[in-house]
Amino acid sequence: MAISISAPVRALMRPSAAALEPYDPGFSPVEVNLSANENTYGMPPEVRERVQAALAEVCVNRYPAPLADGVRERVARWHGVRPESVCVGNGGDELIFNLFLAFGGRGHVLVNCPPTFSVYRLYAELVETEVVDVPRDAETLLPDVDALVEAARTASIVVICSPNNPTGDVMAPGDVARVCEACPGIVLADEAYGEFAPAGASAEPLLATHPNLVVLHTLSKAFAFAGGRLGYVLADPSVVGALAAVRQPYTVDSLVQAAACTILDDRDAFAPTIAKIVSERERLSAALSALSGQGVRVWPSSSNFLCVRVPRAHEVWLALRDECSILVRDFSSTPGLEGCLRVTVGTPEENDRVASQLARLTKEVRNG
Ligand SMILES: *Cc1c(COP(=O)(O)O)cnc(C)c1O
Repeated sequence: MAISISAPVRALMRPSAAALEPYDPGFSPVEVNLSANENTYGMPPEVRERVQAALAEVCVNRYPAPLADGVRERVARWHGVRPESVCVGNGGDELIFNLFLAFGGRGHVLVNCPPTFSVYRLYAELVETEVVDVPRDAETLLPDVDALVEAARTASIVVICSPNNPTGDVMAPGDVARVCEACPGIVLADEAYGEFAPAGASAEPLLATHPNLVVLHTLSKAFAFAGGRLGYVLADPSVVGALAAVRQPYTVDSLVQAAACTILDDRDAFAPTIAKIVSERERLSAALSALSGQGVRVWPSSSNFLCVRVPRAHEVWLALRDECSILVRDFSSTPGLEGCLRVTVGTPEENDRVASQLARLTKEVRNG
């Protein structure tokens, strides 16, 4: 069903909102959905059972714990911080929005490193924050750290997505530290995909020495809970206070809190799947790299997706969807990502299927 805004209604909207269109993730019913970086393995069956049992105990006649203290305590214990350093949200997206609500706005500046996750710019602009771009290198897709450190000197918020969506690279913690030291405002390290990155890649150890650092995590990716909507940040208690001040009190409902507590108690059960996704990533990457003779290029990834450049990318994307029932994400019209698709790493069968179809289609495109 198409949602649209009529001209008279648009005229009533605040200008920064009137500039937007309703979000359409472009989902089509397909057999193989590798478009949204979900964990396509799902939860381990024993965790799924425990989640169901926990859900059955919830009393929904009462309001949820406003700050989700059960979740906060578990997150705090896991990450070795105090519960006061944890803020929970309705998905990481809500926390990103609240960060801009609290620290963005007119007269404030976001420093962003495109191509990256599109919601940073979207939410910044919605609350009328000026956006300064420090673009990534056109060839390596890596950020220009020296330029970022310079731009950070006048920023209210710097966002570092690491591993970056959709390019897959990690920013070294030493570089994140330089940005934190230069920035008078808040530095958000978005580590939504951190569980797929090598040890030592996280900016988390900097929290103790850099009170302007905020590290974002989500249960949507590694922990197979995208439908549940649970994200959290680790930050200085005072920054958590600022986020708590602007948040709506009951956005993380009792059912999600109960499920999230169970997932966090059982988080070790996800380790084999995460390791499998990492090994599948390398296998899929090798399979697609072998198509370099057909004009295919794959960038290294520390995440659960690959950024892949293919000839006539939009045509290939359409053929994957309509002929092969495989959905990946089309970034080919995003500046800096011309010709690029983002392929989520799925199960071995899903990866074989997307690899063989990409091999066939890029051969056809080349010959035709
Ligand atoms: C998926 C994602 C998030 C958070 O997703 P939620 O489902 O809202 O928790 C945050 N940042 C990036 C870069 C992501 O890809």
